Amino acid sequence: MPDCIFCKIVKGEIPCAKVYEDDAVLAFDDIQPMAPVHVVIVPKMHIPTLMDVEANQSGVIAQMVQAAQNVAQIKQIAARGFRTVINCNSDGGQVVFHLHMHLLGGRKLEDQLG
Ligand code: 5GP
Ligand code: ZN
Repeated sequence: MPDCIFCKIVKGEIPCAKVYEDDAVLAFDDIQPMAPVHVVIVPKMHIPTLMDVEANQSGVIAQMVQAAQNVAQIKQIAARGFRTVINCNSDGGQVVFHLHMHLLGGRKLEDQLG
């Protein structure tokens, strides 16, 4: 997707602080972190939102979860814990329309959802 910022990051056209990468997923530090650890996990394939994940693409969600486990180990927060969030569309607060999972941690997340 030519004008998609996360596609550009995946292609290396925009730099990022890479945390983890495999054949299907790239994970990098969020540019505006909301916690000491704030990593964005994106599938390399352009899928706009959670609602656009087709039944035959559900493996990409499993790969994002596997990546989240790896990121939590790399950032050394697996045992302390962390939060994962996927925002979808306007009310969900989605700003970048390339499917992604936020992984937040490194402090006690006191705030309630919403
Ligand atoms: P959303 O609100 O769409 O769920 O989250 C998009 C996230 O992407 C935001 O937390 C924002 O800070 C992050 N982001 C947007 N542009 C860039 C960028 O160019 N580089 C990085 N590393 N993060 C970005
Ligand atoms: Zn994209």
